[in-house]
Amino acid sequence: MSKNYIVGFPRIGEQRELKKVLEEFWAKKCSFEAVAQTAHELKARHWKYQRDAGADFISSNDFSLYDNMLDTSVMLGAIPKRFRHLKDDELYFAMARGNKECVAMEMTKWFNTNYHYIVPELSLEDSYSLNASKIMDEYREAKSLGIKTKINIIGPITYLGLGKRVDRGDVYELWGKVVPLYEELLKTISTLDDEVVVQIDEPIFAKELDIKVLSLIKPTFDRLCNVSPNIKIAVVTYFEHSNEATKILVHTPIWAIGLDFLHGDENLKSLDIIALSGKKLIAGVVEGRNIWRCDIEKTLELLESISNFVSKENILLSSSCSLLHTPFTLRYEDKMDKEIKEWLSFALEKLDEISLISKIFFDTQSSLNNAQKEALSNNIKANQSRKNSPLIHDKTVQDRVNKHTKLQREGDAKERLKLQREILGYKDLVTTTIGSFPQTPELRKARSDFKAALISQESYEAEIKKYIDECVAFQEECGLEILVHGEPERNDMVEYFGEQLKGYGFSQNGWVQSYGSRCVKPPFIYGDISRPKPMTIEWITYAQSKTSRIIKGMLTGPVTILNWSFVRDDMPRSEVSKQIALSLSDEINDLQNAGIKIIQVDEAAFKEGYPIRGEKIKVYEAWATRDFKIAVSSAKKETQIHTHMCYSEFNDIIETIEDMDADVISIETARSGNELLKIFKKVGYTKEVGPGVYDIHSPRIPSVEEMVAQIELLLEVLPKEQLWINPDCGLKTRKWEEVKPSLKNMVEAVKIVREKLKS
Ligand code: GLN
Ligand code: ZN
Repeated sequence: MSKNYIVGFPRIGEQRELKKVLEEFWAKKCSFEAVAQTAHELKARHWKYQRDAGADFISSNDFSLYDNMLDTSVMLGAIPKRFRHLKDDELYFAMARGNKECVAMEMTKWFNTNYHYIVPELSLEDSYSLNASKIMDEYREAKSLGIKTKINIIGPITYLGLGKRVDRGDVYELWGKVVPLYEELLKTISTLDDEVVVQIDEPIFAKELDIKVLSLIKPTFDRLCNVSPNIKIAVVTYFEHSNEATKILVHTPIWAIGLDFLHGDENLKSLDIIALSGKKLIAGVVEGRNIWRCDIEKTLELLESISNFVSKENILLSSSCSLLHTPFTLRYEDKMDKEIKEWLSFALEKLDEISLISKIFFDTQSSLNNAQKEALSNNIKANQSRKNSPLIHDKTVQDRVNKHTKLQREGDAKERLKLQREILGYKDLVTTTIGSFPQTPELRKARSDFKAALISQESYEAEIKKYIDECVAFQEECGLEILVHGEPERNDMVEYFGEQLKGYGFSQNGWVQSYGSRCVKPPFIYGDISRPKPMTIEWITYAQSKTSRIIKGMLTGPVTILNWSFVRDDMPRSEVSKQIALSLSDEINDLQNAGIKIIQVDEAAFKEGYPIRGEKIKVYEAWATRDFKIAVSSAKKETQIHTHMCYSEFNDIIETIEDMDADVISIETARSGNELLKIFKKVGYTKEVGPGVYDIHSPRIPSVEEMVAQIELLLEVLPKEQLWINPDCGLKTRKWEEVKPSLKNMVEAVKIVREKLKS
């Protein structure tokens, strides 16, 4: 009996082969045939890996040259007008990345993961038509290698729900246009074989859907199931529970329902109706988006409780979601601490976990062969070691967290700001930047040479100091008022802190696809977090020693550090975040004692951590805000605390932002005009705000006039006493040739507006 089910597999390649060939192709250094060849090799290798690990359900069409949502747009012929004159790979990559004439389609986060998809641009006027070739080809490609795959497609309700209407109106008005194409697709697929399993991903069912969308579920799946008796449909959801949708799905003729029991344990409540329906349950019980070795004993308990409802012969065992969100394999991690490595499991290792658990659960423990017995005993050992290892458990940290009572700073913001303005003496419309300055090739080289022990610590530090000298000198010359050190010592705003905190680990090859060819390698938190020594003082005080103007110190906030790391699963995230917050509060204390008067605590990923379901938002907001406040609780009234957030949709979270109690917040409004700022006025925001006056994401140099106009627009909404003037994010990805004139123009614009305000 077939029972091991893999929802989806990473595609970038264990050595990021796909990334490399794509980037060569884009740089015109190889042909598209080379891309196709690499893609073919990767697919073949990935299918074999899964088969050799004993997977029974292996996917085709989970591969993509860029993104599966983009593939779905191509499949439906939903090509925005501006691209229609293009063909094949030129068309495909232009939609993803833009070209000289056409801007790319928008990209946004896939639910609460760090994967980004290409947002469909939909319009009622457009006529759509089916292009099933990729799906058909991939199925045949696998079959020719002797592997019969299930076919993965993104379901119509998710596809539409994640799209946007370019002609205004509700995306679901296109339901009647799109569903017939899915029917046609299934009809085409049904010619492939006597029986084909089609996995229809509907992760949108994990959201709270309104009744209108819920009412589309039954007609959609009734129709799709009706297409051909050759096709068995599995509807798969993940990242949260989908109980509302499950209630409906059980009344459609689908063959199986896939649920995530780790991120949505409320799915357990649906087991009785699934059992009654007699459908297969694809039970997502092995973590698909984290890096921890699964605790097999615990997983077996979970499976037992599931099988109290759904009989074993109706259960298929799977990962909680596609393994796309986890790194590829531990094989190449030869530098990692041996004990820590034992605690981890990436995609390939998870395949083995699924097989092993399935063997024990469906057969018996005594049926294990010797290798399996050993794997089980290693698993038990590794989990024991995690429970007891001194690398993880630090009593001093735990005691401190438990006893910690200072939850916020003294005084209210109004009183603090009055005091701070007396001490700091800045003018209205004070100018500053968000922290980083260009990361030059020389800087990157110095850092990698230092890491590889090719240059000494002294010469590395001399290089950083030279950068800081020049950076401070430029800011003075340019006329900026509150300066920064430029962050030259930081590779990344989270990794830099992770490297200095105890409890953090790093992989050499733990890449996860973020979008297209872009991959990230998140650090991981395995143990209690503490700060062995100050992390930023040296560089920031060095910068301060070079100028009489105020240097603003830069830290990354607790919630962002948490959200951009893989987080231990043996402790609630809120506890981990509190530990980070306490380390940061020590850093802030050290910074102010060293004479730093303004400290910015970046929370770029605060919004990103929001739960998928509204019902869970309050809890997240409560601890996330608590931990930001704990981090800054050591700041004296005189020390001004800034925070920076990389987005502008504040309407729904403005009260939470206010509650974070930072004295100054800088935000990204440059691209969205000042409409969004109105919310600050509406709620009577009393603290100071730095809405970005130009977009740093583009190489364009904004003119003085346009920034004058932008500042004047801001002044229509907020009074000059409340406004800071700054770019909308850090400058690290820009070049000095762009940054210098842009900032000079910004300062010039402020001068002009100040003059105008006088008269
Ligand atoms: N201080 C950081 C920088 O300037 C903030 C980056 C961010 O918000 N993403 O780079
Ligand atoms: Zn930012």
